[in-house]
Amino acid sequence: MGDTIFGKIIRREIPADIVYEDDEIIGFRDVNPQAPVHVLFIPRKPIATLNDATADDATLLGKLLLACAGYAKREGFAEQGYRTVINCNEHGGQTVYHIHVHLLAGRSLHWPPG
Ligand code: C5P
Repeated sequence: MGDTIFGKIIRREIPADIVYEDDEIIGFRDVNPQAPVHVLFIPRKPIATLNDATADDATLLGKLLLACAGYAKREGFAEQGYRTVINCNEHGGQTVYHIHVHLLAGRSLHWPPG
């Protein structure tokens, strides 16, 4: 896949408000937040979409979700609740082709999403 703006964030070529980091995953605040808490969790590995993940990525995908839950627990909003979202391709609303999990919290979220 080609490079994306998230690749530049991983390589620290452009700034981001990074709130979580380990050897496989980075979490940073969305520049256009849709809720009081809106953090994106991305793997350092450049997987374009959920469709491009393979069985080899199963553990990594699980770690992405656990990173979200761990952040929610540490920040104290896990019990109140939150939403995790992976948009895939055009109809899913994906705009950056480096797989990412949106973590949204801090207000009551509507269902179904638009
Ligand atoms: O799921 P989707 O691909 O639409 O999400 C991309 C997200 O990346 C958007 O919410 C956008 O605000 C965010 N973004 C960002 N920092 C950038 C570019 C995009 O947080 N430099």
